[in-house]
Amino acid sequence: MFNNLSDKLDKALHVLKGHGSITEVNVAETLKEVRRALLDADVNFKIAKEFTVRVKEKALGQDVLTTLQPGQLMVKIVKDELTELMGGDVEGINLSGNPSVILMSGLQGSGKTTFSGKLANYLKNKKTKKPLLVACDVYRPAAIDQLHVVGDQIGVEVFSDRGNNDPVAISQAGIAHAKANGYNVVIIDTAGRLAVDEAMMTEISNIHKAIQPQETLFVVDSMTGQDAVNTAKAFNDILNFDGVILTKLDGDTRGGAAISIKSVVNKPIKFIGTGEKMEAIDVFYPSRMADRILG
Ligand code: GDP
Repeated sequence: MFNNLSDKLDKALHVLKGHGSITEVNVAETLKEVRRALLDADVNFKIAKEFTVRVKEKALGQDVLTTLQPGQLMVKIVKDELTELMGGDVEGINLSGNPSVILMSGLQGSGKTTFSGKLANYLKNKKTKKPLLVACDVYRPAAIDQLHVVGDQIGVEVFSDRGNNDPVAISQAGIAHAKANGYNVVIIDTAGRLAVDEAMMTEISNIHKAIQPQETLFVVDSMTGQDAVNTAKAFNDILNFDGVILTKLDGDTRGGAAISIKSVVNKPIKFIGTGEKMEAIDVFYPSRMADRILG
């Protein structure tokens, strides 16, 4: 196995020290290791490059080379920068509406339905929240069934209308149902496609305009690496979404997509999915993610 980044940097700087004076050039050498670690974690190349330029400025400003353990200080600088890049403080979701409407968006298979259930369960456990799930995937009957299975599992009602093929009308009817029945959160699960296409974008955009949700969340599979960035950009261009949900972080991805997405769309990552079970949801903590990415 590889050493972690801290060891690598200590070693790199140690070797350089043995060769006489340590210069800006040597720091640049070390930063190659940082860049390699980021690329290994699937961070977009351009973003990794820009990032190391910033770290270099900081490192030179902090006299890294005169300290006893320059590698460790470098790692701290890198970690702090990464944490800041991914959002700094933990961000919540806007639940100020009555009901608060949360629209889920993302590709098919990203984990929207699963996450809708997880979020409903998470909010339900907060006692003051009474969530309703709304099934708006009109193309795949199995998707509606899946949401019902999830709803049954967590004891949350699912609103669906199987004969209806108009997702805008279903989402509006779902919100009306919530108002009439005392639900204070409405989570709307929508249809995804395997890739970004115009029909899907038009549909989600129409739903978005019609219901004006308090919160629009973009769900993305962290295992999809670089593609995740392009998908995020496409959805953000249409929806100007409020936050990102990074799923399947229980897999072996280092999670570099978190940095790339945040850098490109500049929206906070709010929650992560860490498994198929309804309890496998966690608030996103940038510093934990930085640790994971640095390995
Ligand atoms: P949707 O098409 O966007 O609604 O995606 P689904 O919710 O149906 O999820 C697609 C697949 O990914 C399902 O088999 C889920 O069980 C699985 N899945 C969703 N979230 C996670 C996660 O956080 N970790 C893992 N390991 N699997 C997940």
